Amino acid sequence: MLRNKVPFIFLFAALHLLIIKELSAQTPKLIKTIIVDAGHGGTDVGATGQYENSLRSKEKDVTLAIALKLVDELKKQLPGVKVVPTRTTDIYQKPTEKARIANEFHGDLFLCIHADSGPLKQGKRQVGTRMVTKYKISYTGKGKKRKKHKTAYEVEEPVYEYFKIPLTRSGTSVWIFAAHKTSDKLKAIMDGDENFEIEADGVDSLETNIDFNSPQGKIIAAIYAKRYQERSDRLAALVNEEVENTGRAALGVNQRRVGIWVLQATNMPAILIETGFINNPEDERYINSEQGQQELAEAITKAVQRYKAQVESMNNTTPAPPPAVTKNNLKDPAGKNTAPALAFETRPTKDTKTIEVKNNKIEVDIYDDGEIDNDIVSVYYNNKLLVDKKSLTTNPHSMTLTIEPGKANELLLFADNLGTIPPNTALMIITDGKKRHEVRLSADLKNNALVKFELKNNN
Ligand SMILES: [Zn+2]
Repeated sequence: MLRNKVPFIFLFAALHLLIIKELSAQTPKLIKTIIVDAGHGGTDVGATGQYENSLRSKEKDVTLAIALKLVDELKKQLPGVKVVPTRTTDIYQKPTEKARIANEFHGDLFLCIHADSGPLKQGKRQVGTRMVTKYKISYTGKGKKRKKHKTAYEVEEPVYEYFKIPLTRSGTSVWIFAAHKTSDKLKAIMDGDENFEIEADGVDSLETNIDFNSPQGKIIAAIYAKRYQERSDRLAALVNEEVENTGRAALGVNQRRVGIWVLQATNMPAILIETGFINNPEDERYINSEQGQQELAEAITKAVQRYKAQVESMNNTTPAPPPAVTKNNLKDPAGKNTAPALAFETRPTKDTKTIEVKNNKIEVDIYDDGEIDNDIVSVYYNNKLLVDKKSLTTNPHSMTLTIEPGKANELLLFADNLGTIPPNTALMIITDGKKRHEVRLSADLKNNALVKFELKNNN
């Protein structure tokens, strides 16, 4: 409707600005509505406790109990936020129905509660013996006189009982939609509301009609899909952390390749929490207990509170804070620099390489190593941000670095977002006078990569 009233050229200019804005920084966003989905329901039972002596609990009941506690906890801790459960009773919903509710309520977050399972091995044990009659066959005579004789005899045979061996695996894991499924997410966005909400300039949202089949629309949808993935990953990391804080095994953030349709079909950041393994005895008892359910609801709520605070404090001039905010980040020795903490400080550095150089000025070119898959990285040199959230391509990011003697000159690679083929691998070509070094570094959402340059020009 609006589309016909807005001159095309204006709309095009506005979209163009939005695209640039989106690419350069994340716009602020208020978390106003949270959708909580109790996985499965009704005839869709989900996983069930199957091992010997299990509680025979059903995933659909566990998810509903935890989801209801989560809804209560979110309402209690975030009074201004609307919390919408997809179901509050034992009803069947198609995944499309769950996604429709989430999209119709304009959720800013979609939290799916599930319980994990896995194939159970069968065990057998002897429970007794029984006598079985068998027959011995023998023949007498030859030719036409040949005769068959059947002699019965008794044997003792063991009697076995078969049972299902419980899973040894336990813990909580968090899932986001797989990067290569971005196209599905994009489709959900494109098929979404006619009044697609565009956040303009951090002020109010501009409601407009966008044709997502237009080139501009496609770009916007792609940007949104990418951003939802970043946000989903941020929230997932926080949930994992809060679960870990309870002392429970936190199995990390994963990208599932198949089967989380609902995560891909919702037009908002979405995570799926596998609260525990229904076929692990300890986990089954935990996710069925009032105390366990409440603990999980509280941990997830804490993560949502942290996520909300992070997302809402973002502005257009500062980079997005990292998933994990530690006390260290809050320190600001200068007192005047209000820039947020350096993102890399929250992750350990795994891939470290040391290069000896002869010159105190070197050139570094950073390329994507291998297939170009939209890796987005930031590069820091001696804690100073040199490259801010740029995608790695075959066109290098080039920089000149000053190497100081007797100092650890550290060039750090931080993955802001994994491309479609994780981890983010960068090829660095280092030109040190006439010498060239090639260094391959790999960073992911958990670990940074680092090159140390040591000056050796005395000999
Ligand atoms: Zn499930």
